[in-house]
Amino acid sequence: MTIDTPAMAALVDPDTGVRPQASTTLPSHAALMDITARPEQVFVRGEGSWLWDDRGRRYLDFVQGWAVNTLGHAPACIRDALAQQSGLLLTPSPAYYNAPAIALADMLCRHSVFDQVFFTNSGAEANEGAIKLARKWGQLHKGGAHEIITFGNAFHGRSLATMSASGKPGWDHMFAPQVSGFPKARLNDLASVQALIGANSVAIMLEPVQGESGVHAATPAFLQGLRELCDAHGLLLIFDEVQTGIGRLGRLFAYQHFGVAPDIMTLAKGLGGGVPIGALLARQSACVFAHGDQGGTFNGNPLMCAVGLAVMQTVLAEGFLDQVRATGDYLGKRLEALSAQYGLGEVRGVGLLRALELGQPMAAAVVAHAREDLVLGAAGDNTGLLLNAPRPSVLRFMPALNVTTAEVDGMMDGLAASLDAVGVSKV
Ligand SMILES: *Cc1c(COP(=O)(O)O)cnc(C)c1O
Repeated sequence: MTIDTPAMAALVDPDTGVRPQASTTLPSHAALMDITARPEQVFVRGEGSWLWDDRGRRYLDFVQGWAVNTLGHAPACIRDALAQQSGLLLTPSPAYYNAPAIALADMLCRHSVFDQVFFTNSGAEANEGAIKLARKWGQLHKGGAHEIITFGNAFHGRSLATMSASGKPGWDHMFAPQVSGFPKARLNDLASVQALIGANSVAIMLEPVQGESGVHAATPAFLQGLRELCDAHGLLLIFDEVQTGIGRLGRLFAYQHFGVAPDIMTLAKGLGGGVPIGALLARQSACVFAHGDQGGTFNGNPLMCAVGLAVMQTVLAEGFLDQVRATGDYLGKRLEALSAQYGLGEVRGVGLLRALELGQPMAAAVVAHAREDLVLGAAGDNTGLLLNAPRPSVLRFMPALNVTTAEVDGMMDGLAASLDAVGVSKV
């Protein structure tokens, strides 16, 4: 693939104003902003746990859109929901009711402790809404208190406020000035939270399992302690379940796994199973938006809500979450055995959100080998493996929730082969 040069700018057709394409065989990707290091492959098709690129190589996918594709690639129920809804109604207006939004909000509330829902288009937007809701609640009930205690290494999104709420190293001075009002405590250190509570505090916000930081779970005792602190000081407890929600940990929501209910919860990733939808959910006492406080052109559009309904119906079907827990336990056990075999580090996580500590900064090399050079299966088979390295020495595993144990076995074989290839030896 070639990118066009300044010389080509001179080749603008004077009649149409269009520049010639840089390559006649492949479209150049130079027109996409270069916001991350992407491999050269162009992905063209997916099915379940498998992806295909434009060169005909096939990949076993344990990234799944970053824990987005709840039911794997291109599941029939999402295709059918999109086809049916797109023939009926795309967007009436966010200021009109539509049937899929009503049904999905009702379903989310009936299966949780929450009373009302505001739909968004992303996780960052859901968290931005949670921050606004907490600040509004502080204006009404806490004399204008607005500080939300968040955590080191947290990830809440890439809008200005959610970047400020995040505790990602280096983000505190990127795009300065920060949005203020997000003092940082340490995960699983209740005293560090207690020390930050003051007259300006309105809420505590966290991921029950920090995903982007490399899968670090809060302990049940810590979450219970946060609940007690919130009750004692009149604060809202906010769970960012953008990554942990919709069955990822083997229960519909992570708060059910930990047995601690928040006042506000956000969802995104898995709710759409591959399409953009998020949600902000709150208990009645925290539903304080007045007309004009919150909105958005595409929010609660029937097309995405119809997909959310299809995903929820599948995840709530008899036996589905039991299977997630069983496969998650199997994945955890196999990772632990591999770690022992190669003398690697800790295996972390719950359900189908797992991480393996490699002990050395070689995660990127393992990921690259698995994607580019691995031959998974029979010799000559053009099959690779997609893995994620959220930190230099950590691999994260977030397969489709309907991944099979045979596919887990396939991933483990590929991972072992890639470890061998980058020079890690068995102990
Ligand atoms: C991915 C993620 C977000 C951001 O969601 P976007 O849809 O990318 O805006 C927020 N919080 C958590 C925990 C996430 O994993």
